[in-house]
Amino acid sequence: MKRKVNLNEVTAKEPIKIDTEIQSSIMHLPEEEVSKASSFKLHIEITKKPVGYDLEGNIKGEVELTCSRCNKKYMHKIDKDFKYKLLPTSEITGGEIKSSELDVKFSDSDVLDLAEVVEEQIMLNLPVKPLCSENCQLPNVEEEEEEVEKSKPTVDKRWEKLKILKDKFSKEK
Ligand SMILES: [Zn+2]
Repeated sequence: MKRKVNLNEVTAKEPIKIDTEIQSSIMHLPEEEVSKASSFKLHIEITKKPVGYDLEGNIKGEVELTCSRCNKKYMHKIDKDFKYKLLPTSEITGGEIKSSELDVKFSDSDVLDLAEVVEEQIMLNLPVKPLCSENCQLPNVEEEEEEVEKSKPTVDKRWEKLKILKDKFSKEK
């Protein structure tokens, strides 16, 4: 299983294509978010550019996450294409990188660690609010409070004061 690529071996003539599998034991994923991970299949193509490299590929695998509603652990499938540029750090200032361009990663290393590539792509594709299923019914407490807050009719504070005065007045009568 290929794990590291020497970028100096990538020539301008044709891209290097690699299919490999990265074992979860060599990845560093935050345990508080990802309790377990399967091994991940990686397909990657590296193309040498006048400056830096273009990387594109796909990752496939599963991670165990904790549902943000019911707190149950569940397996979350990831099957994601990716594409980004790898540029030397010297390009950070002097370069002409437009924000509309592909994602860019800066690195001066001659070695591309494929386990790191997979780790990064997993992290980029974790759900913000993990859910064990679309219909997970147990409401998250925080979310419920938010809903209640939203469903309150918005009354102008001045009208509220007026109502208090009115009530007071009618009581005094
Ligand atoms: Zn759930």
